[in-house]
Amino acid sequence: MKILVINAGSSSLKYQLYDMTDESVLAKGLVERIGMDSSILTHKPTGKEEYTEVSEILEHTTAVRKVLNALTDAEHGVISSVSEIEAVGHRVVHGGEIFKQSALITPEAKSEIRRLFDLAPLHNPPSMMGIRAAEANMPNVPQTVIFDTSFHQTMPEKAYMYAIPRVLYNKYKVRRYGAHGTSHDFVSKEAAKFLGRPLEDLKIITCHIGNGGSITAVQGGLSVDTSMGMTPLEGLMMGTRSGDLDPAIVPYVMNKEELTVNEVNSMLNKHSGLLAISGISSDMREVTEGMEKGEANSTLAFEMYEYRLRKYIGSYAAAMNGVDVIVFTAGVGENSAVLRKRVLEQLTFLGIELDESLNAIRSGEPRRITTANSKVEVLVIPTNEELVIARDTFRLVQ
Ligand code: AMP
Repeated sequence: MKILVINAGSSSLKYQLYDMTDESVLAKGLVERIGMDSSILTHKPTGKEEYTEVSEILEHTTAVRKVLNALTDAEHGVISSVSEIEAVGHRVVHGGEIFKQSALITPEAKSEIRRLFDLAPLHNPPSMMGIRAAEANMPNVPQTVIFDTSFHQTMPEKAYMYAIPRVLYNKYKVRRYGAHGTSHDFVSKEAAKFLGRPLEDLKIITCHIGNGGSITAVQGGLSVDTSMGMTPLEGLMMGTRSGDLDPAIVPYVMNKEELTVNEVNSMLNKHSGLLAISGISSDMREVTEGMEKGEANSTLAFEMYEYRLRKYIGSYAAAMNGVDVIVFTAGVGENSAVLRKRVLEQLTFLGIELDESLNAIRSGEPRRITTANSKVEVLVIPTNEELVIARDTFRLVQ
């Protein structure tokens, strides 16, 4: 069965076509600048040359049509007809409390997703555009939705409630939902597989640290706590997001600087984090370079990022009364040996013993970076959120 995975943003659409007989990727790509001048399609067929096309793509339906044309093109294509695609899986950020699992798209599911626009105004509307675009181009193909929040629906009340008036939960569902659920789910399962141990027996802390970042306590395969909150702003310090801060800072700064709600939202989401403290970049590579050159602001940015991550690891070990495995994943987690070293060399109280030569190895494969004596296994596992979407879709349509 061939499955198309779609991840739609407001002006972009990422895709991957899977052959589920061996879970291989036949092609992947990206449409950028939808609705702007000179939209760009970058199509990467496996085993063939990358293909780029610049044209005017005014909305998502045209973007999906362009993708299907590329997939079936005589020269750059990987299938002979669109009818070979038997299902489409969509990534959706927010599933609220309604979607505890991935689901087939039905008229009811679509109206539920629309009702969740309020909770994720930046993320869910573009996903709906992707769904509509796929339906318009492939009306008879089953479609599914896979949510970033579903994996965290197992959190207990004490982890997801905020200590604010309950009426806000009752009326508006203000609570912790978390994010990156497909990634935390995937790497925790991969960790158990790698170690050859039953997932049910393990206490795992998964650190998904990329441009955005979140950390999850996974006990017996279930998310029991996670650092992102009602929105993806809470928790770790990120590329451009502040992560945790005293909520009283918000009204204080709004008052002093006469900022609107939108302005303060933008400040915390787009102009904070590594970017704000380093004054250079939101990219951990550039911040690390700045630190290595002895630049004070980059050094502080790196130290804050590392310190906050380490504190979360400590608190999740406390939340589960122990930890067997720590997993690093996503752009920073998979690639920054220096960050992993700095975090782990101050977690020796947990019995962690880093193997520096294993930590320095670069590879796209799951690997262990601790010594045989370490009381906690620390693994680096490349994440694969698209594969989770393809697998869930495969399961749902069968
Ligand atoms: P992601 O959101 O998972 O794609 O991660 C993207 C981020 O990974 C980039 O913004 C970089 O900060 C980070 N990254 C990628 N490669 C490296 C590296 N070699 N060292 C440190 N950070 C990296």
